[in-house]
Amino acid sequence: ASTWASVPQGPPAILGITEAFKADSFQEKINLGVGAYRDDKGKPYVLPSVRTAEKKVVDSALDKEYAGITGVPSFTKAAAILAYGSSSDAIKNDRIAITQSISGTGALRIGGEFLARHYPSSKKIYIPTPSWANHNAVFKDSGLEVVKYKYYNKDTIGLDFDGMVEDLKAAPEGSIVLLHACAHNPTGIDPSEQQWRQISDVVKEKRHYPFFDMAYQGFASGDTKKDAFPVRLFESQGHHFCLAQSFAKNMGLYGERVGAFSICCESAEEKKRVDSQLKILVRPLYSNPPVHGARIAAEILNNPELNQQWLEEVKGMADRIISMRALLKKNLEDLGSKHDWSHITSQIGMFAYTGLKPEQMDKLAKEVSRICTKDSYDGAYMHQHSVYATKDGRISVAGITTGNVKRLAESIHQVTS
Ligand code: PLP
Repeated sequence: ASTWASVPQGPPAILGITEAFKADSFQEKINLGVGAYRDDKGKPYVLPSVRTAEKKVVDSALDKEYAGITGVPSFTKAAAILAYGSSSDAIKNDRIAITQSISGTGALRIGGEFLARHYPSSKKIYIPTPSWANHNAVFKDSGLEVVKYKYYNKDTIGLDFDGMVEDLKAAPEGSIVLLHACAHNPTGIDPSEQQWRQISDVVKEKRHYPFFDMAYQGFASGDTKKDAFPVRLFESQGHHFCLAQSFAKNMGLYGERVGAFSICCESAEEKKRVDSQLKILVRPLYSNPPVHGARIAAEILNNPELNQQWLEEVKGMADRIISMRALLKKNLEDLGSKHDWSHITSQIGMFAYTGLKPEQMDKLAKEVSRICTKDSYDGAYMHQHSVYATKDGRISVAGITTGNVKRLAESIHQVTS
């Protein structure tokens, strides 16, 4: 028999949606499965600040030598300031160990591996229910045991704050707790600032170890400082924690794989030791990270003019998403939908958790039905949905445009009434 005769076929990944979308010949099909920003024409968007920064990088004809194990220092230094803030005590006192990473996923993986090796107590990591689909696999493959805490209340399509606090309190003292810093994926539901303070108190009381995943800084509210609130709060409250950062969404550097993993340490001396272990961990994984994307990000973060431009462009992306949420809700209401769609606008970030059931999501993709809208004076017409998104009811708001929102609302109204 062949060497791999007994390798089992794995299940299709999330990309199954893209394949089904591609195979659909309907002209007006809508893909709300992808976790990447699209402009109002539905096209991928390269930020003008990124184009300018990239040109500067290319024009300066830098060499292609290896970066150090922890990456491009001008990038990691600026990434830390972006997350922790320029007045951060940890930055001032040189207490942050940081390494460049293969985007957010790589940062999470380095964190998982570091905790599996060095975390002094339980190797369990608590993640919210639900969480980004890859968290489970990343942490399991890092050698951690993944446990869930309550997060989403399906009855209110909101945060189950009491359940979350209850689970954090019930977890053994010193547990590792993964927290989405902003724009929780997949629900788009974040704790309020007041709730973050309470979470900080519980985490402190229980001596838990927080692991922040910040994949959307700036992308949620349009303001990088506001989105970093939980991270900065936890620092100011004296927590020791670690942080995964991604520049995929907020700089649109998806395929460049730019990220950072950092550990906020007790002292500069501790940071040195932690840093040495990060290097020991990274070296056999990939030796050192790619430089191009990090140079682009560094240019944007360190050049005051470009930085200002970028902040405006991030806000532009966040604002378009926020306005598409409002437009989708309005269109549903205009169609006479009896459901309460307020969660669409109260949620934040790339995704809306619609509350639609798997059967309804199936219908959205496949069903053709006869519908009649208020303003279709020529009566009923055949309506093919061809709306593709994940079965859990999560839709990427980035895939909504002024051109397709009406048709989308009609389809959602159709499958929910
Ligand atoms: N964490 C969360 C919550 C995400 O939603 C994502 C991407 O969708 C990531 C991390 C990692 O993304 P990337 O590896 O592209 O930076």
